[in-house]
Amino acid sequence: MNTNQKENELNERSHQMLALYYQGNSLGEIGNRYGLTRERVRQILEKQLRQEVKKKLLGFGFSEGELEEIDLAAFIRLEKKTIREIRERKQVAKELEKVNNGGVDPRKFYSVKKYAEAMRVSETIIEKYFPEVVEFIKTNKEMQEKRWSRDYLRCRQCGTTSVKHHSLGLCEKCYVKSEYFKDMQRRSRMKNIERRREYEKEYLRRYLKRPEVIEKRRKQDDLKLFSGNREKAIQMADYKCIFCNISRQESYEKYGKDLYVRHLDNKEDNSLENLIVLCQDCFQRKEWIEKKKPSSLIKRVSVQPILKGKKSMSSVINIVANYYGVKPDDIIGKRRKHKFVVPRMVSAFLIRDQLGISFPKIGRKLGKRDHTTAIYSYKKVSKEYNENEKIKNDIENIKKTL
Ligand SMILES: [Zn+2]
Ligand SMILES: [Zn+2]
Repeated sequence: MNTNQKENELNERSHQMLALYYQGNSLGEIGNRYGLTRERVRQILEKQLRQEVKKKLLGFGFSEGELEEIDLAAFIRLEKKTIREIRERKQVAKELEKVNNGGVDPRKFYSVKKYAEAMRVSETIIEKYFPEVVEFIKTNKEMQEKRWSRDYLRCRQCGTTSVKHHSLGLCEKCYVKSEYFKDMQRRSRMKNIERRREYEKEYLRRYLKRPEVIEKRRKQDDLKLFSGNREKAIQMADYKCIFCNISRQESYEKYGKDLYVRHLDNKEDNSLENLIVLCQDCFQRKEWIEKKKPSSLIKRVSVQPILKGKKSMSSVINIVANYYGVKPDDIIGKRRKHKFVVPRMVSAFLIRDQLGISFPKIGRKLGKRDHTTAIYSYKKVSKEYNENEKIKNDIENIKKTL
């Protein structure tokens, strides 16, 4: 290795060391890298700096001779000052980077002093080296002064800055007039209505399931719809559906409901003859409406017989004939004299009332008449019983002898 080569290497090293120094490394750090003392590094850098200044001046057009005559010290001082500033700026930038990565955002600051404190650098450094940050914080401050809410400079609707901000860029006054607010109110009202309806429905459902309520409602319905004859109608039907013979107990088990009682014909007529008993299934199948003709229904109503087995139709007819002083054959016959008609109707009534025999049977017995005649007789006498003292007495007297 010749001297020239070695010199070049040393020159190169000095150049690198100065470059490192420009980049902000301390003398100690550079010394560590090259295995030199701090003082030695300072000497080398001093020498190198002198050379660099010379080179720079040559670049500016000075001649070698001129350089011999002028005092380089002033230039070196200037250069050192530049280096100091560059180094300082780089160090600060490093610091700032560190702090920035830690989350200090100049956008959140309205004063340079506060920002510098958060950055742990002096205010002067920020002012000197980061004019853009200072500018930014200044505008920030101006914006803050102008700003009405965190995000809005003024009310979007009326432009006020004096009325307090509510939300969505609207002042309190404009907000309550806004569509947003109205819509929200509507939605909340709807939501509440639904919730309340649900609650009411649920309450009602539970209320209606309470046994005492069921009983009370049943009684009320009975009185209102059937003049209190509902239970009697069910009793008359032997506690069974007249179509499928399902019992009351079975109805409860199968449908969770009592047997239905419905009017056969006129809804105002609550007499037992006009009431039929159905299970839920038969009621819904509407067969009872198709078969509305009483003949097909009433004969199926099995009446709870009161005197069943004790008296026959004939014996009742005999007793009635005896009471009115006519022959039993006159009652059974077809003659329409008043003298025979009254005993015939009273017979029909008593047979139905006391024996619980079906109307078609009564009709057949009393002169091969059809059930409608029997029903008519029964209804007619029932009415007369309440209005006509004589008939009432007749019936009561005959009943005693039955
Ligand atoms: Zn407004
Ligand atoms: Zn049924």
